[in-house]
Amino acid sequence: MWKDFLSLIYPKICLGCETILVSNENLICLSCFADLPKSNFYAQSSILIGLEEYNFIIGLYKFNDDLIQQLIHALKYNGKSSVGVVLGIELGKLILRNDKYEEIDLIVPVPIHRNKKRKRGYNQSYYIAKGVAKIIHAPIKEILRKSEKGNSQTGKKKYERWLNVKGSFSLKSNSKLQAKHVLIIDDVITTGATIEACVKAIRKYGKVKISIAVLAIA
Ligand SMILES: [Zn+2]
Repeated sequence: MWKDFLSLIYPKICLGCETILVSNENLICLSCFADLPKSNFYAQSSILIGLEEYNFIIGLYKFNDDLIQQLIHALKYNGKSSVGVVLGIELGKLILRNDKYEEIDLIVPVPIHRNKKRKRGYNQSYYIAKGVAKIIHAPIKEILRKSEKGNSQTGKKKYERWLNVKGSFSLKSNSKLQAKHVLIIDDVITTGATIEACVKAIRKYGKVKISIAVLAIA
């Protein structure tokens, strides 16, 4: 009631076309939502990112777009966690439509550092994972931890330095992953270093099948 009253005084407008949003719309109107630039990025090759091998990598939208960038900014910095769920549902549909799809045993959101999580209140990738889980019906397991800082860069090979830029990730000790198919979820792939570092941390465990799905590809 109070919310409805407030929205009379301050109607919410679409980030894309500035029309007034109706109650089932979130940040953008349905017509802008339908027009978001699909990348339909799909690859089975590991060459595109780094040295690790994946089952598949899938990206829903092109990051090089104002509206996509505004939505992801709202998700990360303006407390709009629901954007993650809404776009995560679309990502889940794309994953299921892909003919190379194989059943996923667990969905793993890329973690953020705990100081950042305290400040932001949540991990955006967890909300994207929630949307994906609604469609593919697999459990979300937060098995990765992001460490304080990357290790010292000196004396490392170029590939290791590149991996280390985004800090390092480790596996929580109670994870049971043998012969499982893990789907890693993140908001954006830019250089691929974050994903690569997560995959390395999971592979330390042993033989694990890994796929990757992100909202946008830069
Ligand atoms: Zn619109």
